Amino acid sequence: TTFRELGLSAPILRQLENLEYKTPTPIQAACIPLLLQNKDLMGLAQTGTGKTAAFALPLIQQLSERSGKPPGRRVRALILSPTRELAAQIHENIRAYARGLHLSTAVIFGGVGYASQFKELAGGLDILVATPGRLIDHLERRTVSLDGVETLILDEADHMLDMGFAPALKKIVSKIPRKRHTQMFSATMPDNIRQLAQTLLQKPETVRV
Ligand code: AMP
Repeated sequence: TTFRELGLSAPILRQLENLEYKTPTPIQAACIPLLLQNKDLMGLAQTGTGKTAAFALPLIQQLSERSGKPPGRRVRALILSPTRELAAQIHENIRAYARGLHLSTAVIFGGVGYASQFKELAGGLDILVATPGRLIDHLERRTVSLDGVETLILDEADHMLDMGFAPALKKIVSKIPRKRHTQMFSATMPDNIRQLAQTLLQKPETVRV
């Protein structure tokens, strides 16, 4: 399979050429067509399988096709990650995939100052990558609004639950419209992940690699 056959558009294919991604990985081949059809998704995959591009490429394609930066403090797509390192890495990848496509993106996590995060959130964002704890801080300060989230992605959902983020996730999800697209990625599928998937996903497709 080629990236083109998966349904990706010319602007995205150009980025992949620049990055010298030649062939889709198995998780990309399985997820990208489903996500371009707006399916909810449960992806069972480890880090290193190319799962970031699997969720980020269709997201970037769709956001850039229906462009229009959201009004102040609003976010169109929210990606949650358990750790700052992973959040920063996801954001770096997204910046590379979206280069030149005029999307506004930011990453926020704890352990650093608030000032620059306030500024980034104030303008509205197409894509926000965040760790749950710092996102809750911003929700409580009303420096971010999740009213306009169209797509919610939970990366390494099993690690987020292991780290005790279940209450934070519940609170965050309660601020996001029910009518949205949702994706969960996890390396494992224990009962608590199965239950979370049941509450968050609507008629999901499951992909295992
Ligand atoms: P991930 O599993 O998302 O952390 O990705 C692992 C690494 O593989 C990252 O460094 C990506 O830049 C790289 N990568 C992802 N997809 C591809 C691909 N189709 N071809 C070549 N490299 C890729």
